[in-house]
Amino acid sequence: MPSVPALQTECVIIGAGPVGLFAVFELGLLGMRSEVVDSLPHPGGQCTELYPDKPIYDIPALPVCGAQELVERLLQQIKPFHAGMHLGQEVVSLERQPDGRFAVETSAGTRFDAGSVIIAAGLGSFQPRRLMVPDAEAYEGTQIHYRVKRAGEFHGQDLLIAGGGDSALDWTLELCGKARSVTLVHRRAEFRAAPASVVRMKAFAQAGRLRHLEGTIQALRSDDGRLVGAIVVSRDKSTTDVDCQQVIACFGLHPKLGPVANWGLALEKKALAVDTEKFQTSVPGIFAIGDINTYPGKKKLILSGFHEAALAAFGVQHHVYPEKRQFLQYTTTSPVMRERLGVAPPD
Ligand SMILES: Cc1cc2nc3c(=O)[nH]c(=O)nc-3n(C[C@H](O)[C@H](O)[C@H](O)COP(=O)(O)OP(=O)(O)OC[C@H]3O[C@@H](n4cnc5c(N)ncnc54)[C@H](O)[C@@H]3O)c2cc1C
Repeated sequence: MPSVPALQTECVIIGAGPVGLFAVFELGLLGMRSEVVDSLPHPGGQCTELYPDKPIYDIPALPVCGAQELVERLLQQIKPFHAGMHLGQEVVSLERQPDGRFAVETSAGTRFDAGSVIIAAGLGSFQPRRLMVPDAEAYEGTQIHYRVKRAGEFHGQDLLIAGGGDSALDWTLELCGKARSVTLVHRRAEFRAAPASVVRMKAFAQAGRLRHLEGTIQALRSDDGRLVGAIVVSRDKSTTDVDCQQVIACFGLHPKLGPVANWGLALEKKALAVDTEKFQTSVPGIFAIGDINTYPGKKKLILSGFHEAALAAFGVQHHVYPEKRQFLQYTTTSPVMRERLGVAPPD
């Protein structure tokens, strides 16, 4: 028997990208509370993960808006609705129960008993890019890591860190002096990380506190089933043998459809097929909005996702409260919506 009781909710939203966040708002306006789950440790989906500093020009009434700024504005807009946020955990199972409700479970063991589900999973859940060398898989999770859970486990060890972004540089600087040795390997001379971190790293390397190699990991060296080293090959094809018991590979994340494909929902070209009345999937009570869905004329735009969120919210309301009369209210004039938003009633 599972020890932690399932969280009861009217709606679980899978995905905290811009469209999932706006669904919180639309459900909230209709008086429904939601729980949001995302595999990333922060909300924002593609906007935050892939292009936070890029300007967006096609959000209505915002002539220009930074992608991260858009996410922050959405978070501010949904504040009155107090949605539960369950970040850093992937929804791994979704099952319709005999009573018509949905059992939803995450990789962290969080369980929900939900009246409905909105899937706003975008291009899928973001997964770390893996080290593609022979036998790497055998050491993943024990000696090869794509995320640092406990920095302490690297203290006193020979550590090889691969990558040129902020994560690689941050861990290099953080663990330098704590690990027995630190080698940073990056395939090119230019780094994507903050310039100040690169300057510090180079100063540490010059002082002999760490080793910096330009190249890629070509092979692993093992002894008696344990990883003991790696061969780094540089552009001129020369190789360096690096002793290491631990490897941290920070190659960034890429989206993968992942578990969504296994929930028995009708798929078309790796997207969830929905109607255009309420953006419901092939299973009543499960809705799909944003980049994850498809229908005739679908355009993968944030604007389209916002429209879909509004209609799906009405669909959720009808599914969870079929007896409830539905009518359109304006936030400008509806006292009940103004109360839900926590703003003064209309004059
Ligand atoms: C470089 C770039 C520029 C762009 N510029 C524009 C633009 O100018 N205008 C525009 O309208 N659009 C633009 N887009 C597209 C826009 O970003 C997407 O349409 C939008 O992000 C879709 O939002 P979403 O919420 O549907 O999905 P996403 O933003 O992809 O978010 C989905 C979230 O779901 C999570 N997730 C997936 N599966 C699971 C699971 N099983 N469990 C838990 N979490 C899960 C993911 O981790 C992710 O955070 C651009 C895209 C890119 C890459």
